[in-house]
Amino acid sequence: MTDLPSLRESLDAHGLSAKKSFGQHFLLDLNVTRKIVRLAGPFDGRSVIEVGPGPGGLTRALLESDAGRVVLVEKDPRFLPLLAELDDGSGRLEIVEGDALKVREAELVEGPAHLVSNLPYNVGTALLIKWLTGPWLPYALTLMFQKEVAERIVAAPGDDAYGRLAVIAQAVCEARLVMHLPAAAFTPPPKVASAVVHLVPRADRPDRETLKRLERVTAAAFGQRRKMLRSSLKTLGGAALCEAAGIEPDARAEVIDGAGFLRLAAALT
Ligand code: SAM
Repeated sequence: MTDLPSLRESLDAHGLSAKKSFGQHFLLDLNVTRKIVRLAGPFDGRSVIEVGPGPGGLTRALLESDAGRVVLVEKDPRFLPLLAELDDGSGRLEIVEGDALKVREAELVEGPAHLVSNLPYNVGTALLIKWLTGPWLPYALTLMFQKEVAERIVAAPGDDAYGRLAVIAQAVCEARLVMHLPAAAFTPPPKVASAVVHLVPRADRPDRETLKRLERVTAAAFGQRRKMLRSSLKTLGGAALCEAAGIEPDARAEVIDGAGFLRLAAALT
């Protein structure tokens, strides 16, 4: 990696600049991308999928790491020639042009694989839900989001940011906010600050059927978060559902913890 031009020189050499429509805000400081990769690892030879490599700052750090293979999924074809220059011929790097919302990860990697990405903000939440609800589940996920979304993922009951995303993410994974980054760390800078979340799937995570129920219950409960559950969950069983789950029907969604929502999901008929 040391013989390569700087990320900025690579962008200039290929005449590339950021496009808003692809959510492009680049990390051009390798000290930052190496830190993210350290927080994501160790990989112990496992594969890593990186979504949206863009100019390849995270990719370079991943190629320096103990990842067995590094598989890139990039939607903007302008970046493919630049990314191909990172290939040292060892067979570790694979570049896939495609939309991460549509790719089937199980066809890209064999065995457990990590996901590491500075996500395009416009599709970050949709991608996280895709990975949390399967069918393919990563070994671990280390993802950059806009700060507000990161806070919604790790929020606890009673926090302003607590809602559907926290309940679903934390039912499937242990989730920790591991790094804050100011907008100025990106080129061009976005309007908001960012944060990295590290998620590790739980051994006791719910099956896909229970997750679907959890999505229904949380959509209803947080869709009207100021109402009591007996009322917000009316179409799903209201007070009777709450009582079957051992939940106080007069409580509001924002105070119910993940275990409570899982009991509500289990009590749905
Ligand atoms: N990883 C690079 C970095 O940190 O400098 C770029 C991050 S930039 C925030 C998001 C990247 O995701 C861009 O390269 C963009 O082209 C790509 N992208 C946007 N939507 C995508 C999608 N649906 N599937 C795959 N890549 C996408």
